[in-house]
Amino acid sequence: MQQYDVVIVGGGHGGAAMATQLRQRGHAGTIAMLTAEPELPYERPPLSKDYLAGEKSFDRMLLRPPAFWAERNVEIRTGTRVTAVDPVAQLLATTAGPIGYTSMIWAGGGDARRLTCPGHDLAGLHAIRTRADVDALVRDLQHYSGAVLVIGGGYIGLESAAVLTKLGHKVTLFEALDRVLARVAGADLSRFYEAEHRAHGVVIETGMTVTEITGSAGRATGVTLGDGRHVAADVIIVGIGIVPAVQPLLAAGAQGGSVGTPGGVWVDDHCRTTLPGIFAIGDCALHANAFAGGAAIRLESVQNAADMAATVARTLTGDPAPYRAVPWFWSNQYDLRLQTMGLSMGHDATVLRGDPATRSFSLVYLKQGKVIALDCVNAARDYVQGKALVEQGVAVPIHALADTGTPLKAWHPSAG
Ligand code: FAD
Repeated sequence: MQQYDVVIVGGGHGGAAMATQLRQRGHAGTIAMLTAEPELPYERPPLSKDYLAGEKSFDRMLLRPPAFWAERNVEIRTGTRVTAVDPVAQLLATTAGPIGYTSMIWAGGGDARRLTCPGHDLAGLHAIRTRADVDALVRDLQHYSGAVLVIGGGYIGLESAAVLTKLGHKVTLFEALDRVLARVAGADLSRFYEAEHRAHGVVIETGMTVTEITGSAGRATGVTLGDGRHVAADVIIVGIGIVPAVQPLLAAGAQGGSVGTPGGVWVDDHCRTTLPGIFAIGDCALHANAFAGGAAIRLESVQNAADMAATVARTLTGDPAPYRAVPWFWSNQYDLRLQTMGLSMGHDATVLRGDPATRSFSLVYLKQGKVIALDCVNAARDYVQGKALVEQGVAVPIHALADTGTPLKAWHPSAG
């Protein structure tokens, strides 16, 4: 049986950052990264952006060249899935046999959430979570080039709608909630993005559920909607979030999310699960977030995966410090670069900086007078300067925030 000082489960953004950070901080022990996918760690964001558009090759998405891992003596075992965890024996059951560990970091991310309605298992339905997903989607689009339906108006649904519209496909998007981006952005931003997509020819229907996937000869040919209508489709993309990939950990007794929470595996402020010697990071880690008022959340972002990896690397190299990072995120749609700083949930006031008609503006979210988040559209300066306001919960008068003539850095605590 093989035995390692550190075993990382998952070779995505979190797993790659974990191994890199450990070596950067001088960890000299043996490290193995076990990943179910056949590829070395690669960037996921381009999957719904330039990789789907055919503008970025897979080679350019590798997070590091193969030699990087070899030089740092990180053993990456691709195509290896962990099926069970024994925290007492410090042993993993995997598709490649048993593997022992001293410390284990679970960076399993999540699997694309599937529909459960009738017809959900027909061919022609696509998720966008892995390279294999996008390759299959692109192959299908080459054969069935007509109407594309997108189910779900989150980042992935909107980004893929933007790419496919630009490629000349006729795209219709259905969102069950009353606005797109409802989980992650304020209502004004949702309306702006809905209008942008419509201006580019995407048909968007909000407040509309899909109740059935209809098909013939085993392949989806359309959907039935909550209002009884039937809409034909050649290709269907399902972008309705993820299911955290934590089942082996929960089966081993790790505390997971209770009812009403977003699922995942519970971690403390050092990313420790409730099982000894086992940490969890990235999309699957349910934690009390300081920038969400202490609410239990999971963050699905590259930055969070890297910051949590840094937290665990510090602990494992004898320099522990709690996780406390301002969340940030980005999304590219058409010529719009959206950059989000902080979490807007629970805001009680919104201030618009700039004019959306110019396609460069920011929305600043406040709670009890303090800045808690910014959504910046083609407004990198606000995004950069807003960080300190969010980080330190600075109180700024609303009329002052609306004045684009005054840069946000004027309100930095250090500005006096
Ligand atoms: P992942 O990167 O998902 O990696 C998890 C890995 O673990 C996978 O390879 C999986 O196969 C493997 N695994 C799971 N279970 C097991 C097991 N039992 N055994 C072995 N291996 C296992 N974030 C941004 O910040 N900005 C963006 O613009 C952005 N765009 C995105 C676009 C798309 C299409 C997608 C899918 C995501 C996007 N994200 C974006 C989110 C970002 O990619 C994730 O937050 C990030 O990848 C999380 O890293 P992770 O390591 O937690 O999980």
